[in-house]
Amino acid sequence: MSLLVVGSVAFDAIETPLGKVERTLGGAASYFALAASHFAPVRIVAVVGDDFTKKEEAAFRGRKIDLSGLERATGKSFFWSGRYSLNMNERTTLATELNVFADFRPTLPDPYRDSKFVFLGNIDPTLQRSVLQQMRQKPKVAALDTMNYWISGTPEALRQALKDIHILMINDDETRQLTGEHNLLRAAKAVFKMGPRTLVIKRGEHGALMIHEKFIFSVPAFPLEEVRDPTGAGDSFAGGFMGYLASVGRINDKTLRSAMVYGSVVGSFTVESFGVERLASVTRREIAARARHFSKLTAFRL
Ligand code: AMP
Repeated sequence: MSLLVVGSVAFDAIETPLGKVERTLGGAASYFALAASHFAPVRIVAVVGDDFTKKEEAAFRGRKIDLSGLERATGKSFFWSGRYSLNMNERTTLATELNVFADFRPTLPDPYRDSKFVFLGNIDPTLQRSVLQQMRQKPKVAALDTMNYWISGTPEALRQALKDIHILMINDDETRQLTGEHNLLRAAKAVFKMGPRTLVIKRGEHGALMIHEKFIFSVPAFPLEEVRDPTGAGDSFAGGFMGYLASVGRINDKTLRSAMVYGSVVGSFTVESFGVERLASVTRREIAARARHFSKLTAFRL
């Protein structure tokens, strides 16, 4: 089934203890779309500047990614730069240059307006809501990501956006900040009152936790000997998660659990290289093999 993503398409400069890149394709929507396209066709809504050439576009070509909603504006593309600590657990943002992203008003091409699955990447909650308002009918599943900047800066707009959301995907700090609850189970109950009936908490090297009204499910991060660049792991997780759900088209206890595993598997490939390189080269067969490995990793009998 059709899957739409709105978010940033960017150039990133990244420095980790294992290397450095000056300018590579980045942005939440890029990671999401590449990850999800391993499972289902994806429609991107984003903006880039005139420095985004055919060369950058090539990363999306030849895949099930529809770029008709990728707007071209005059000026520079969004640029983000970050540096990771020695243990890679902390990240310092060195630069955020919004450029053409500052005036971004997402506009859905007509065929996008019937998308059944929608992922609202981390942008202004008013714009996230405007995407849902442009839909011809309510999507089967709408998921949303946000960050501390919007939670503290525009809380009312975020509350409004959350009303029509099924799945909220954020990290533990953001969960606590949004709800004022330290305990994540209590925080989930507060989230349920805001709209979403499922909370997916991304926990970096500790994996991810899904709290649904009726069940809880936890997945680890796939153990890797070497993590080269954690950038985009969360967006790749979201892409694998939503891409899998869109591919099966059904939402239930079983498909939500599998979506968590595919999210974690795809995220684990992303961090093996800088930028989107490994995410773009991984095959469906490698994803399937790692997912099987995952099931052994977590299986036990009582
Ligand atoms: P993650 O590692 O999952 O937080 O995602 C990192 C990606 O998010 C990078 O590729 C950045 O280009 C992008 N990014 C960083 N800051 C922002 C922002 N304020 N709004 C939208 N995208 C951003």
